[in-house]
Amino acid sequence: MNGKLPAGLPDIDPCDRLFPHSWRDAAIRVLMHPQLGGVVCPRCGIVFRGRAELRRLEADHDMPYSQGGLTTWANLVILCRPCNRRKHAKVAGDYVLSPSLPGDCPSHGRGTLRESSGNLDGLATAVSKA
Ligand SMILES: [Zn+2]
Repeated sequence: MNGKLPAGLPDIDPCDRLFPHSWRDAAIRVLMHPQLGGVVCPRCGIVFRGRAELRRLEADHDMPYSQGGLTTWANLVILCRPCNRRKHAKVAGDYVLSPSLPGDCPSHGRGTLRESSGNLDGLATAVSKA
């Protein structure tokens, strides 16, 4: 998201795993397009209008959390659910590694992740050889 965190929203720890609902709702208000009367998913370009459709929009990390992206307003993107799922599928390799993130933020385990990715590569090689 561009700009500053809108007033009235709670400050959160950039190392929190998820964006609060209030941040998601605020982002949707910011992104609401007056002419279109809705919010455009930046990935698929579909316009989401009305309460039911807007519910399908999700707050996600622009730079994936699993790759060291922080839970900050600047790193928040609004995506529709299918696009968000596709994005997560793309970084699924990293996601596997993220549940046991060490608590030493702000890098939240970037080094660990790099190491683990290396191990995974080795694993893939070993599997393909077998
Ligand atoms: Zn989309």
